[in-house]
Amino acid sequence: MDQTTGLRLPTYADVEAAARRLDGIAHRTPVMTSRTADARTGARLFFKMESLQRTGAFKFRGAYNAIAALDADARARGVVAYSSGNHAQAIACAGTLLGAPTVIVMPTDAPAIKVAATRGYGAEVVLYDRFGEDREAIGRRLSAERGLALIPPFDHPDVIAGQGTATKELIEEVGPLDRIYACLGGGGLTSGACLAAEALSPGCAVWGVEPEAGDDIRRSLEAGRIVTIPVPQTIADGAQTTAAGAHTFPLLRAKAAGVTTVPDAALVETMRFFAERMKQVVEPTGCLGAAAAFAAGDLAGKRVGVIVSGGNVDLARFAALVSE
Ligand SMILES: *Cc1c(COP(=O)(O)O)cnc(C)c1O
Repeated sequence: MDQTTGLRLPTYADVEAAARRLDGIAHRTPVMTSRTADARTGARLFFKMESLQRTGAFKFRGAYNAIAALDADARARGVVAYSSGNHAQAIACAGTLLGAPTVIVMPTDAPAIKVAATRGYGAEVVLYDRFGEDREAIGRRLSAERGLALIPPFDHPDVIAGQGTATKELIEEVGPLDRIYACLGGGGLTSGACLAAEALSPGCAVWGVEPEAGDDIRRSLEAGRIVTIPVPQTIADGAQTTAAGAHTFPLLRAKAAGVTTVPDAALVETMRFFAERMKQVVEPTGCLGAAAAFAAGDLAGKRVGVIVSGGNVDLARFAALVSE
């Protein structure tokens, strides 16, 4: 429980419960290493490749856990989410696996390929005008009219607990770590990483990494309250969040070592590194953690975990970015 808001905050026990629900369903994604990356940083780096997770990002973990945690009646009524990104596909796929109808509210100008993918995973897509309508109001209306459970992309205890399973697997596989870098949007992934690291590798410093243009959580931690910024202009589209969540902020404030930022140019350089050296397609947002590790300069002799959060990038966009 959070003292000031009275919200139910997840604990490591919730991460363990999520791991049991996800067992045999989510991929235990590989942990990769690279001699080049180690030589460059002087560290031993362990990359947890959530780009190879089902639906192409760690979001599957939180979405599946949150839907699985609903009681049978709520699950049968279904779930609504608003997202044009990885959370949409994660909810659609998880809902289909769990027999829950899903409705995703997406902007009319969302890329056709994303709308098609979301429908392909089994969701009903409701389109809205990004400039004239409020997606949260639409989500709330659908929730009230049809009795759907609203599952947000990060500000939800079961979503956070699900995301924590990525770090749980990482530490269980490679052992204690000195530091972890996690890609940071609204804070679900990083909050979950904090819960797992605190339990499994006490003393490990968990850093969230934001795009330089969208450093709302860094500012929020400095100010001691949630700071809201305009939609940031960055190629890290999975981290274009404008504010931390009511659940993620107190967790990050209490448990994260800090938040650092990287410029878009470093994300492009890191995409190139993953493609050339590790033969991996990683989306811009998924490069935040690795880019921060490469820039850190103080990792010599350390064991460092990097959560590579997603790999969903249109090939034409990937090619355009890496050939700049
Ligand atoms: C959603 C997302 C993030 C940010 O996660 P939060 O839980 O909102 O902090 C990072 N990377 C990718 C690929 C994502 O889809």
